[in-house]
Amino acid sequence: MTYTVLSLFPELIDAFFTLSILGKAVNRGIVGYRSVNIRDFALDKHKTCDDAPYGGGAGMLMMAEPVGRALTSLGLPNRFDPQTVVSQTGKPRVLYLSPAGRPFTQEKAKELAGETELILLCGRYEGLDQRIIDAYVDEEISIGDYVLSSGEVAALVLIDATYRLIEAVITPASLEEESFSSGLLEYPQYTRPELYGTLKVPEVLLSGHHENIRQWRLQKQIEKTLALRPDLIRQGEEAGLFDRETRTIIAELRNKSAG
Ligand code: SAM
Repeated sequence: MTYTVLSLFPELIDAFFTLSILGKAVNRGIVGYRSVNIRDFALDKHKTCDDAPYGGGAGMLMMAEPVGRALTSLGLPNRFDPQTVVSQTGKPRVLYLSPAGRPFTQEKAKELAGETELILLCGRYEGLDQRIIDAYVDEEISIGDYVLSSGEVAALVLIDATYRLIEAVITPASLEEESFSSGLLEYPQYTRPELYGTLKVPEVLLSGHHENIRQWRLQKQIEKTLALRPDLIRQGEEAGLFDRETRTIIAELRNKSAG
């Protein structure tokens, strides 16, 4: 998978690709990265990339021309320019990080991790001239119902959630029991020391009894999800995601809290 990030501040993204597990994945050639500075495609001497919106209103907008030239430099087709339109087969997916996009979820992260190349377009100011979205963008993605000042932070969230799902980056076992993987949040975890102040690690985790540990973890997952994210339980039930054991524990906990 190669991530290509278009930004007015690519240095914000560059550092991320050099560190920790992602840095190792880049060094091992599992993940590729290139950044494109949109300002390099501004033609005036001030390298202007923003202007006031037509019709008035607060703030500035990113201008279509520099962004369009940056995208064209990557060989991406403009849907409205017959000279540049090419086959969609093998075309990298162009994503614009935007608060008006579809919500980014773990499911979406899994889907995107299967792509060969992602082109991530980061907005600034009040966002992009709509014509760029119409001409080049395949999908707008929001990382949550709040407004950030820049798309770079949102792009980092998307990169961080997807690269770790790419085969050979992280051992599959680490991903299997994570939050959301089974429709439930993850169980509480502990490491050394056994006693932290007056707080002890739960006895069952020291027992070495695998079946008891599994049952305790499942019970805790369900308790936590019911308390913090009952919407996930409802979704899991509707999708028929839970086995009989999970359904029984959910019913017991609901009866307990109703009684
Ligand atoms: N005027 C825009 C609106 O009201 O929808 C907000 C623009 S925001 C200040 C600037 C840039 O930050 C956007 O172009 C986008 O790239 C990024 N951004 C802000 N919030 C985001 C979110 N929740 N998810 C993804 N990107 C976001």
